[in-house]
Amino acid sequence: MKKEKIRALAIDGPAGAGKSTIARAVSRELGWIYVDTGAMFRAVALFFLREGIRPDDADGIRDRISEVLVTLGYENGEQQVYLNGENVSGMIRTEEVGNMASACSVYPEVRQKLLELQRALAVRQPVVMDGRDIGTVVLPDAETKVYLTASVEVRARRRYRELQEKGAACDIAEIEKDIRERDWRDMHRETAPLRQAEDAVLVDSSCMTAAEVTEEILALVRREEV
Ligand code: C5P
Repeated sequence: MKKEKIRALAIDGPAGAGKSTIARAVSRELGWIYVDTGAMFRAVALFFLREGIRPDDADGIRDRISEVLVTLGYENGEQQVYLNGENVSGMIRTEEVGNMASACSVYPEVRQKLLELQRALAVRQPVVMDGRDIGTVVLPDAETKVYLTASVEVRARRRYRELQEKGAACDIAEIEKDIRERDWRDMHRETAPLRQAEDAVLVDSSCMTAAEVTEEILALVRREEV
């Protein structure tokens, strides 16, 4: 029997490909909820950083993950992420937290915990959800799937500019190295590695503006809606 598709747009791709910018813009156009799953992994990472648990401490992570409760809320349409009731949205955007999130996300126990929340959100309303395994694992029946990527150099430059605008001290060579490491880890982990779903459309944004990518993806969603 053919499985029912769910009204959702899954956007997967490597770090810095522009997923959140595009997902936010597309969700606004469609009037759908935007779910940034990376923020959930970042909230978990913040917990472990605060507790002084190292990313290679598998027993520590497995033992303590039950103490972590991640929830989402929305303020003026912007996703807010709560760690055990505390709004941590403003604390999770650092490179340190991003690298820790990538390291923690290899543990099946961490992924399982967030998977339930991610699926529950998509049952309630149409969503634009971005991450690494949305089209492959979280929402395999999503109506539209996109694999959004860009070259490592372009992604590093974008991240560099973003950090500079925030006034953070940063080094482009360091950012590029982090991106390469994160890509490798995300693509080679055993549980839910980053890969393009068979039925996902590949969009390479290296030479595209955000507006062009948004238009292309909106057209893909609308094609399914008619
Ligand atoms: O997308 P973002 O950089 O915020 O994600 C942080 C990290 O969380 C990623 O490097 C990735 O390892 C992990 N992640 C994941 N699966 C997702 C979303 C994020 O493994 N669905």
